[in-house]
Amino acid sequence: MQLKGKTAIVTGSTSGIGLGIAHALAKEGANIVMNGLGDENENAEQIRAVAAHGTRVMFHGANMLRHNQIADMVASAEQNFGSVDILVNNAGIQHVAPIEEFPIEKWDAIIAINLSAAFHAIRAAIPGMKARRWGRIINICSAHSLTASPNKCAYVAAKHGLAGLTKAVALEVARHGITCNAISPGFVWTPLVERQIPDLARTQGISEEQAREQILSRQPTRQFITVEQVGALAAFLASDAAASITGANYSIDGGWTAE
Ligand code: NAD
Repeated sequence: MQLKGKTAIVTGSTSGIGLGIAHALAKEGANIVMNGLGDENENAEQIRAVAAHGTRVMFHGANMLRHNQIADMVASAEQNFGSVDILVNNAGIQHVAPIEEFPIEKWDAIIAINLSAAFHAIRAAIPGMKARRWGRIINICSAHSLTASPNKCAYVAAKHGLAGLTKAVALEVARHGITCNAISPGFVWTPLVERQIPDLARTQGISEEQAREQILSRQPTRQFITVEQVGALAAFLASDAAASITGANYSIDGGWTAE
């Protein structure tokens, strides 16, 4: 229970990787602020499951497209729990299309949710972390923060941007007891990836099984990463043992970016 007494905001924690991280931090005793699309009722099952670890959990439905709602999420968390000690910027969306057909509103939304939302949340959380001289910021990037794939221009740009933001923030807060790191997963089995399988099968004229194999062919291990594995890495980066790790970008990608 190394995070007892700490409070963590995990954006986009009603599903997939964010939910896995919320569980991992709650298991270590942190109070959790959950966030995601929909309201408290629609996410009741996930909220109950995280609270079952015996910590306090609140839900805030800030839309990551709205900077004032993000600031309100941080302020509400501080009001409710007394502090925001750990901030995990995880909410993200994807859209796949060639650049000349890429819908402008999808570009804007991906940059806003996958990159600008992290800036707004960090900006709001830093003053409290500085005052308490302790903080952990973890940005969920992607193998696409280090490498690219065709038809994912907005996602690749946003994730490379988030990796840069991670380093810039790490330098700014290095003397304040605050660390800022990125985690860059390869393909993790979540609804975001599951949704890509039928699309890929349709556009390539292949079966869903072949689409799944095609996705996994990027990863030398030929295994999907699990949300529990990403959660464990986030819990480590949030711990006191990781106090000297900052400005780093941890790959958890089955060897993808080693090739
Ligand atoms: P997911 O679709 O399972 O979950 C996304 C979460 O973000 C949900 O909780 C959703 O409600 C929330 N969200 C989406 N738009 C939002 C908005 N406007 N405001 C607030 N919340 C919003 O996705 P996932 O696969 O768990 O991905 C989570 C993060 O991990 C993303 O940043 C993604 O880019 C990154 N990532 C995923 C993979 C993968 O293979 N799944 C790989 C690398 C990186």
